[in-house]
Amino acid sequence: EKKNLSRITDWCQAVMESRAPRGGLYIDATMGNGNDTLFLCQMAGNEGQVLAFDIQKEALETTRELLEKHGVHSRARLILDGHQHMERYAGPESADVICFNFGYLPGGDHRIATSPATSVEAVEQGLRILKKGGMMSLCIYSGGDTGFEEKEALLAFLGTLPPRRYTVIVNTYYNRGNHPPVPVFIFKE
Ligand code: SAM
Repeated sequence: EKKNLSRITDWCQAVMESRAPRGGLYIDATMGNGNDTLFLCQMAGNEGQVLAFDIQKEALETTRELLEKHGVHSRARLILDGHQHMERYAGPESADVICFNFGYLPGGDHRIATSPATSVEAVEQGLRILKKGGMMSLCIYSGGDTGFEEKEALLAFLGTLPPRRYTVIVNTYYNRGNHPPVPVFIFKE
């Protein structure tokens, strides 16, 4: 199935798919309604494992249902905890792919959103958890009165990463107005 790259999540999934070995360890740092968790479970195959985080019970329930519907729930561990505690659940250099989709739960409470300090902390931990040769995908949103500080904090932090150890690619939907979302890919060398 051809991905629709005008959708940021499809773009990010297309790149993750191109880099993910079957049977790996994948982490969804922002489970939400579970679309990325499902995608990672499908990539993981029977031998693979997925860890998914969210701070809202509602997200875990919706995601569990979605995974059960697709018969892949046994591949995932759904964790009710902030992604800034990711290192409590995964060891150093253990993950093949880590996926972040910042912001709030679509259809949920917009006040419960990711925030600059915890997002940067989570990405830092995620980079330690990534295997060499692994990748991290970030969907960064801003618009209205939300997301600007988080975007600034994340991009400032990513700019400090040593180029010999990480390749950081920040993409733009160049001809779109109104603060388009920013897909970012980080490859650990
Ligand atoms: N990937 C999801 C999907 O496919 O539906 C969408 C994710 S949604 C844009 C962002 C999610 O991050 C929300 O469900 C929110 O509850 C969650 N979140 C906010 N702060 C968090 C934190 N500190 N740790 C983990 N998840 C968090």
